[in-house]
Amino acid sequence: MNINVKYGDITKISTDVIVNAANTSLLGGSGVDGAIHRIGGKQILEECQRIRNSQGKCKVGDAVITTAGNLPAKYVIHTVGPVWNGGNNNEEKLLYNSYKNSLLLAEKNKIETITFPNISTGIYRFPKEKAAKISINAISLFLRDSTYVKKVILVCFDNENYNICEALLSEFE
Ligand code: ADP
Repeated sequence: MNINVKYGDITKISTDVIVNAANTSLLGGSGVDGAIHRIGGKQILEECQRIRNSQGKCKVGDAVITTAGNLPAKYVIHTVGPVWNGGNNNEEKLLYNSYKNSLLLAEKNKIETITFPNISTGIYRFPKEKAAKISINAISLFLRDSTYVKKVILVCFDNENYNICEALLSEFE
């Protein structure tokens, strides 16, 4: 299968695209978002600002694409995952949409390799096991029919997410 799990820092990854777990403002935040803007530099923020000026805030589950500035990747896709609020607020579908819409945007831009963090599992408190299952379902379904997107990496910043994703993927294969 063309899904790999890695342990590490997404700002060091040099795939065509890395995905940012952004917030609706698109203007930066903490966690992975903070790291991407801090290391990627002001070009990313400037493009996010232009997008905001033309289309407003980014809705939960949607995605937009910018340059990667000083990062080793070529582009950053910013998607907004849902905040976990107990599970009765459409959180699972919205998280699925974040992965799917990021992949659709990569496909539209003829991108071959894309790296995701574990969206929503930090400050947004989405349960990690549930989030990992949703991510792998969304990605594997997408890869069945994609033309350009060929390889997806899940990069985990903590042991718990890494162990969960690795176990799920080994069951999958
Ligand atoms: P969210 O608000 O979507 O929960 P966070 O940035 O708080 O976003 O966390 C999302 C995931 O990204 C968490 O699993 C967190 O451990 C991880 N993360 C934080 N910094 C990095 C980084 N530099 N590289 C990869 N993953 C990261």
